[in-house]
Amino acid sequence: MRSWSAPNISPLPGAGLPLRLYDTSARGIRETSPAPEARMYVCGITPYDATHLGHANTYLAFDLVNRVWRDAGHRVHFTQNATDVDDPLLERAEQTGIDWRDLAEREIELFRTDMEALRVLPPDEYVGVTEVVAQVAELIGRLKDKGATYEIGRDVYFSVAAAPKFGAVSGYSEEQMLELFAERGGDPAREGKRHPLDWLLWRAERPGEPSWPSDFGPGRPGWHVECTAIALSCLGSGFDVSGGGSDLIFPHHEMGASEGHVATGEWPFAKAYVHAGMVALDGEKMSKSRGNLVFVSRLRAEHDPMAIRLALLAHHYRADWEWTAGQIGSASERLARWRSAAGLPAGPDALPVLQQVRERMADDLDTPGALAAVDAWAARAAGGEGTDPGAPALVRAIADTLLGVAL
Ligand code: ZN
Repeated sequence: MRSWSAPNISPLPGAGLPLRLYDTSARGIRETSPAPEARMYVCGITPYDATHLGHANTYLAFDLVNRVWRDAGHRVHFTQNATDVDDPLLERAEQTGIDWRDLAEREIELFRTDMEALRVLPPDEYVGVTEVVAQVAELIGRLKDKGATYEIGRDVYFSVAAAPKFGAVSGYSEEQMLELFAERGGDPAREGKRHPLDWLLWRAERPGEPSWPSDFGPGRPGWHVECTAIALSCLGSGFDVSGGGSDLIFPHHEMGASEGHVATGEWPFAKAYVHAGMVALDGEKMSKSRGNLVFVSRLRAEHDPMAIRLALLAHHYRADWEWTAGQIGSASERLARWRSAAGLPAGPDALPVLQQVRERMADDLDTPGALAAVDAWAARAAGGEGTDPGAPALVRAIADTLLGVAL
């Protein structure tokens, strides 16, 4: 399906640094070494509600990965899905009386508008699951040929016993896995399962639900296998970064990694699993089920999207943090300070700022450190320091290219 339009990126002098990122599956910070093309898959939204700040925080983190890689001279191949058929979407459609397709289309369009406003670089392939059901079914067929599946009624399950690397992504204990699986859409207690952690690959048609034909009968894909199929067909296995919020570590990324491994025989499915922290409101993680959401579209109505972007960048992407109304105010003030300084006829030499921002960003996307480097330059420029007429333009280019903030 249609992606969204790309913001212009100003070129920067010299070349960026190799990006180091915290890899959940390695339990530590590792240098990414994409060669020559960097390949990234970021799990997309289930489009039944508007983009909230938790989403924006996640997509911004991977936008920074994209930007730092490009600055280091890589071509970036970026794929994202939209889970445009799934239980929560169908439930919401039922509750509101809106056709599920119309609901998905409306929310995906709003998501595109939000991403454009926040200057998030678009994916090369933005794939709705409903567009690739046949490919997902084909992957399930491959898993079946490997002896990794079984059926309960006409639902098809993946047998965790067939996955030798299961647990490698999250490193969680079985007890933790069982708890999270139950919380996050799994069905550990379903009768007839061989193991509580076996997961659904294909949900057979139920009355009133959309379905597609397949070798297993009519039905629709399970959640994890859709991303595995899209990533394999667009990027191939062994891609550089699999990304999402930290609530995707388990079960989503763990189960997807095992599907990819068993289907292809290749490991790792992704070289690094990278996860953004959770944004809370009123002491609780921002989530649809709790209803404590701050929508990007609503914030945009009152604030410059670049201030929203700066408010998010003020936190390290891996941190869990709490949104408070004051943060948009501080970010707006910072944006005004930067714009004012970057609009001066001259300022202090900005090449050291470029070096500092590159170093901070290459170090696991240390955005608070990068912001501090620009803050320091802006304060000096505002104080009348420096006579370099090229410096303000270079600072605008740094903010634009590496941080995605248009001044
Ligand atoms: Zn996914």
